[in-house]
Amino acid sequence: MVSLNFIHPPDFKNITRNKKIEIIPIPKKVILPLSQHAGAPSEPVVNAGDSVKTGSLIAQAKGFISSNLHSSISGKVIAIEESSHPVIGSSRAIIIESDGQDIKTYLDSVPAKDILGLSKEEIMTLIKEAGIVGLGGAAFPLSVKLSPPPAKKINSLIINGAECEPFLTCDHRLMLEKPKEIILGAQLIAKVLGVKDITIGIEENKLNAIESLNSASFRLKAEELKVKVVRLKTRYPQGGEKQLIKTLLNKEVPSGGLPLDIGIVVNNAQTVFAVYEAVYLRKPLYERVITISGSFSNIAKNILVRIGTPIKDVLDYCGLSPKLDIYKIVMGGPMTGVAQCNLNAPIIKGTSGILVMDKRCKLEGEELECIRCSRCIEACPAGLMPCMIGLSAKKEKFDIASSYDPFDCIECGSCSFVCPSNIPLVQLIKLAKLKIKRQ
Ligand code: SF4
Ligand code: SF4
Repeated sequence: MVSLNFIHPPDFKNITRNKKIEIIPIPKKVILPLSQHAGAPSEPVVNAGDSVKTGSLIAQAKGFISSNLHSSISGKVIAIEESSHPVIGSSRAIIIESDGQDIKTYLDSVPAKDILGLSKEEIMTLIKEAGIVGLGGAAFPLSVKLSPPPAKKINSLIINGAECEPFLTCDHRLMLEKPKEIILGAQLIAKVLGVKDITIGIEENKLNAIESLNSASFRLKAEELKVKVVRLKTRYPQGGEKQLIKTLLNKEVPSGGLPLDIGIVVNNAQTVFAVYEAVYLRKPLYERVITISGSFSNIAKNILVRIGTPIKDVLDYCGLSPKLDIYKIVMGGPMTGVAQCNLNAPIIKGTSGILVMDKRCKLEGEELECIRCSRCIEACPAGLMPCMIGLSAKKEKFDIASSYDPFDCIECGSCSFVCPSNIPLVQLIKLAKLKIKRQ
C-alpha cells in the first residue's frame, strides 16, 4: 500500500540552488562502465586502440532491458577491462584517453526539419539509439519504459521535478535554465505514449522553477495537449514514482506492480531534457548535470560533466583541498546515496550528485536495541513495517522478513533517518531483499 507518510529532513538546498550550471573541462581520461543502467551490461563494439569521437557508439544494448553507451570524449580506447564502479564496486569498462579535441560525431547527422512531424516510431528509435536511461537515479532504460505491452493503455505522463533528496539542486537548475527544452522533450514523450495529459510535479522549495516551466508550457502550447505544472509541498520522499502518482493523481500502484499497470509513466525532468537533445540535436547521452555539495560550501556547484569523468577530477575542479577534514564522500543524496572509497570511480549516467561531508554527518551514538516506538512505521511511504523486515534480517530470519513485503521498499532511507536507536534499517532491508532473491 502506498501511504502518504513523509518526513521533513533539512533540505540544505540553499548551498547550491542559486549556482548556475558550470561546464567543467573535458577530462584527460574517461572510464565508461558497461553496467551503468538497469538490466544487462552493454556489449563493446570497439577494441583497444580504436579512435572514437565524442558521441561515438562504443557499446551496444544487449537484450531488451539494456542500453547503448557512447564515448563522452574524442580520443583513443586504451583498454576494456575491470575497473572501479561507484555503485557496484567494480565492472568491465571501456577506458578512453582524450585527444584534447572533443570532436563530436553527432554533429554530422542532420536533424529532421519538422521534428513534430516525426512518427512515434522514429522518436523511439532516436531515444533508444541515444542510450537514454532514467536520470533520477534508477537508470532504467527509457526505451523500455516507453514500450508498455499492447494491452496496457497509458493515459498520463508525469514529469518528476520533485527533487526531494536534500542537497541536490541539479534538476532545479536545469528546470530554471532549460525550461523550453524540457517542455519540448515532454511533448515528444507524450507523442510516443499517445497521451494528452502531462502533469509536472515540482516541490514548493523551487517556486522559480514552477514559474519558469509554467511560462515555457504556455509559450509552447501544443494542440490537444494539456500541460499542468503542480506545486507540491516539500517533503521526503515525494519524488518516489509511486508517491508522486499518489500525490498528483490520487492513484495507487499495486504492490509489486509498475506505474504502467495503472496507465501512468513517470519521467524525471533531466531524462526529459535528454530526450529533447536526442531528438532535436541528435545528441547521445554522454553528459549530465550533477550537484557537488555537502559540508564545504566553498566547493559547492552545479556542473555539466562528461559521463566517465573520475570523481577525483570533478572534486579537483571544484577546489577540494586535502586539508579539509573529510569524513565521507557520497555519490547521490544523503538519504539514498552510496559512500565512495575510491575516487578513481567515474560519474555514471545515474549520478545526481557528489556530497563531501565532514564528521558532523556521523550518526550520534551507537546502534541500540529496538524500543518498539513505531516511528519507522509512521515514516514509511510504502506502508511497510521496516522494523519487522530489518530486525528479522538482522537475525537472519529471511523467511519472516519476506512475509513483510520487502520488495515494496523503495530504499528511501526514511526509516533509518527517524530511528532513535540508530538501527541501519534500510541496509538491513537491502540485505533481506538480496538474500530472499538468492533463495
Ligand atoms: S527505506 Fe524504509 S521507509 Fe523507505 S520504503 Fe523502505 S522500509 Fe519504507
Ligand atoms: S524506529 Fe527504530 S526503535 Fe523505533 S520501532 Fe523502528 S526500529 Fe524500533
